Amino acid sequence: MSKAMSTLLFRILIFFNIFFLASLIYVFATMSFILSILIAAIPFAVIWLLLKLFSHDDQTTGGTHMLELRPNCECCDKNLPPDSTEAMICTYECTFCKDCAEHTLEGICPNCGGNLVARPIRTPAQLAKHPASTQRVLKEQGCVANTG
Ligand SMILES: [Zn+2]
Ligand SMILES: [Zn+2]
Repeated sequence: MSKAMSTLLFRILIFFNIFFLASLIYVFATMSFILSILIAAIPFAVIWLLLKLFSHDDQTTGGTHMLELRPNCECCDKNLPPDSTEAMICTYECTFCKDCAEHTLEGICPNCGGNLVARPIRTPAQLAKHPASTQRVLKEQGCVANTG
């Protein structure tokens, strides 16, 4: 939830409360206590719904996109499980084992030319929510040594 959105919701809440306070006084005057409580609850229900709606894309995961965590090295097909400290990725998530990345590729992704860095580890709790990719990506010709 952004600060601007919170401020907006707060203003809506105040507006609704003024409106419903007036209704409350009217209903109280007509001696319908249960109806007054129901009416007073409506603005809170509306705000709760709005909060739920807008807080959706602001969870700790930072939205819906996350690293794929591909299961293998694109060069040699070595298994690289999510907890592997050997996995190296480029900005497009081309994935390589440490051995290929350092020796064959010399730290440069053969697909995009970008640098390769160690892939961060996802905790088991987060893996349960956002599992790693099971789709293997493999270069048909394998990898050739970078010439520079
Ligand atoms: Zn490899
Ligand atoms: Zn790449």
